[in-house]
Amino acid sequence: STKNAQEEKKLPIKVSIRIRPLLKKEQGQEKIVKTENKKFVVLEQSTQIFKQEFDRVFDDSTLQVEIYNNLNECIKQAFNGFNGTILAYGQTGSGKTYTMFGSDWEQQIQMNFGINHQSTYCTDLKNDISFAGIIPRVIFGLFENLPQNFYIYCSFLQIYNEKIYDLLQDHKIPVPLNLHQSKLDGIYVENLTEYAVNNYHDCLTLMKRGEKNRIIRQTTMNLKSSRSHTIFQLIIETNKVDKNGVLFKSKLNLCDLAGSEKINKLEALTNAHFIELKNINQSLTTLGKVIQNLSLNNKNKQKLPIPYRESKLTRLLQDSLGGNTMTHIIVNIAPNIYNIDETVNSLKFAQRAK
Ligand code: ADP
Ligand code: MG
Repeated sequence: STKNAQEEKKLPIKVSIRIRPLLKKEQGQEKIVKTENKKFVVLEQSTQIFKQEFDRVFDDSTLQVEIYNNLNECIKQAFNGFNGTILAYGQTGSGKTYTMFGSDWEQQIQMNFGINHQSTYCTDLKNDISFAGIIPRVIFGLFENLPQNFYIYCSFLQIYNEKIYDLLQDHKIPVPLNLHQSKLDGIYVENLTEYAVNNYHDCLTLMKRGEKNRIIRQTTMNLKSSRSHTIFQLIIETNKVDKNGVLFKSKLNLCDLAGSEKINKLEALTNAHFIELKNINQSLTTLGKVIQNLSLNNKNKQKLPIPYRESKLTRLLQDSLGGNTMTHIIVNIAPNIYNIDETVNSLKFAQRAK
């Protein structure tokens, strides 16, 4: 049989905040979001006070490698059979994609691969100077530490308007896929492509392919990518059995969530796809409820119901959120007054998750 890690172990949900730098177009503006002791967030020019201590608050000078190092545990535990989920939450433009995928990584890969196929990029990651985000680093870390008899499989999907699409199928207009549950595999997406990957480079190529499909569909299907959830999934399996004769299998979900901003009324009124917009909010609201109840159950030994079934996103992540899994939420926020309302909303979400 196949099994995930020890049932008895309960792990707390980790919540970090990442404040992005001012962008070029914001130059000259004031940074009003600060951190105290790398644990607290202080909002200047706002009456809102956040007393919550977070696992980490990353200021705008934080390198990509520091964010990754803070998540290292997820990778180690993946080889011990623990499922893990890393979620980037925040309004559009707050740095979710930068955090998960990185910036200019494609160009960098091309540049570096031009010189020396894969090793340069790998060295780059080691030297901390790369802008590569969490996903390429996790992939690199997994292969770097891969024990014998362990195998890695990769999937890449998008949830838009409560429908699941495969990003590794190159159809311009993709078919929505269904969610199922089985005793052996837990929750799974029927017909989702799952590639066996043997090395960092192959896995990164899949990531690039999915990104390309996402961009193509954005135009052909008129999907707004800020309104979709993107999940890069890695499955780690071993054919070695433990002392109880059980095979280990674990899942790592790396999620770039839809923008958390409120739908403005004008957009809703003028947009024919009002239901879509409503659904998108619904899945983030459900995620918030799920995380909050998991967290409360953890702290107070309560048994609040967890409404996994109320959205595709939470249903898909059901066996990888809370409980005996490594769940890490990175809440991305902007530093300027212009975004203060959404920043406050995102911090409230972070506070509820803790
Ligand atoms: P989101 O995915 O949340 O909509 P992005 O990741 O696309 O936001 O970030 C918006 C812009 O800010 C991009 O141009 C991105 O490169 C830049 N950016 C975000 N975070 C950082 C950071 N930590 N350092 C430098 N640039 C950043
Ligand atoms: Mg984005």
